[in-house]
Amino acid sequence: SEPVTLPAGAVLFEEGAIGHCAYLILSGRIAIFRRRDGGESVLGRRGAGELFGEMAILDALPRSAGVRAEEDCVLVPVGAAQIRQRLAGADPILRLCLEGLIARFRETLPRLGPAVAGSRPAALSPAARADFDATVAALAQERALRRALAQDEFALFLQPIVRLATGRLAGFEALIRWHDPERGLVPPAAFIPAAEASGLIVAITAWVIGEIGRIVPPILQAGLQAPASVEASLFVSFNVTAQDLARSDIPGLIDAMLRRTGIAPGALKLEITESTLMQDPAGAAAALARCRAAGLGIAVDDFGTGYSSLSHLSALPITTLKVDRAFVRAMLAEPRDRRIVQTILRLAEEIGVAAVAEGIEGRAEAEALAAMGCALGQGYHFGRPMPQADALAAAAA
Ligand code: C2E
Ligand code: CA
Ligand code: CA
Ligand code: CA
Repeated sequence: SEPVTLPAGAVLFEEGAIGHCAYLILSGRIAIFRRRDGGESVLGRRGAGELFGEMAILDALPRSAGVRAEEDCVLVPVGAAQIRQRLAGADPILRLCLEGLIARFRETLPRLGPAVAGSRPAALSPAARADFDATVAALAQERALRRALAQDEFALFLQPIVRLATGRLAGFEALIRWHDPERGLVPPAAFIPAAEASGLIVAITAWVIGEIGRIVPPILQAGLQAPASVEASLFVSFNVTAQDLARSDIPGLIDAMLRRTGIAPGALKLEITESTLMQDPAGAAAALARCRAAGLGIAVDDFGTGYSSLSHLSALPITTLKVDRAFVRAMLAEPRDRRIVQTILRLAEEIGVAAVAEGIEGRAEAEALAAMGCALGQGYHFGRPMPQADALAAAAA
C-alpha cells in the first residue's frame, strides 16, 4: 500500500462498493457525495491530515457514500487488516463506543442533507497534526517491515552465554537484525515495537523460528565435538512476545521446526519478558506449558523490571530467570543494585531455576556474579551478538 495519487475530478469509489481500505490524506481535498433522484449532494469534505473511508472497514458494510477528488490528492491507503488488528487490541469499551457511533451514523445517513455550501475542513491543531504525522510514519514503517519479510532482509545474530564458574561457552541468545537497504543495520528496538503494534510480530517470530531451524543445527553439532572451551550440550534461546503466544500457534510452529530439523527440544529455550508475561499471565500459560511439556526451556527475560507477582510466576513452567542488564550494570557502584541481584539469584535458587545475568561488560562484574553463585552470564565482556558463521567458529573453538 504505497501512497497513491488521485487527480482532481477522479472518483475513488462509489456508494455501495466493497471497502478494502481507508485513506489518509497527505495533500489535496476530497468530497464525500451521494447520488439521489438524479441529483448529487456533497455530505462533507476532507483535507490534508484527515482520514476517510474507515466506516466500511470498521463495520464491514458497503460504502455509504462515494468519494471524489476536488483537488489533486496524495493518499495513503490503510488496509482493512491494519485497522482491524488495532481494533482487536483496543479497549473493549472503546470498541463498543465506536461500533455504537457507527451504527447510529448509518441510521441517520438517509436523513442527512447536503453539506453546508463551501464547508472546508478546519485546519488541524498542532497536536492533531503531530498525531497524524506519527500515524503516517507508522504506516510507512509497517510497509517497510512487510517488504523486509517478503525480501528476506532479516538476520538472526547469536550472542554467547557463558558458564561463569568455568568460562566455558554454554549457549547463545538469538537476536534479530534488520538489514534495511535504505537505512543499513537497524536494531530490534527500532522496529519490534512497530511490529507489535501492527501485528507483524507474529510473522516475524514465525520467521525467527524457521531461521533457528536453519542456523542452529551446525552449532549444536560443533558443540558435540566437545572442544575444551565449549560445553557438549549447547542451547540456543530466542525471544517471543505475549502477542505471539496469544495469536499464533507457537508450540505448533516450534514442533514442526523440531521435526523438520531434528533439533533436540532441550537445546532450545523461549525467552519472554517479565512485563509481557504479566500483561496476560493466563493467556501465556497454556502455550508456555505446551512448550515446556515438549521439552523446551522457558526463560523470564529482563527479570526485576516487570513487577511480577510471584504467585503468577509460580504458576508458570519457568526454567530460567534472566537478571536485567540495568541491575548488572549498576551493581558494582550501587550496593542497592547489588542486593537486588543477590535477591534475584536467591529467588532463582529457591524455586530451582537457573539464573543468567545479562549485560556483563567487564571482568569485575563477571567475577562478582560468579562469586554470588550466578550460573550463566551474557554480555559484551564475553562477546557481542554475531553472525552465524562467527558463532559456529566460537562453538568449534
Ligand atoms: P533482550 O532480549 O533483553 O536482549 C538483550 C539485548 O542486550 C540485546 O540487544 C543485546 O545485544 C544487548 N546486550 C547484550 N549484552 C550487552 C552488554 O554487555 N551491554 C549492552 N549495552 N548491551 C548488551 P538487541 O540485540 O539490540 O535487542 C534488543 C531487544 O530487542 C531484546 O532485548 C529483545 O527484547 C528484542 N529482540 C531482539 N531480537 C528479538 C526477536 O527475535 N524477537 C523479539 N520478539 N524481540 C527481539
Ligand atoms: Ca532476550
Ligand atoms: Ca533481556
Ligand atoms: Ca531487554
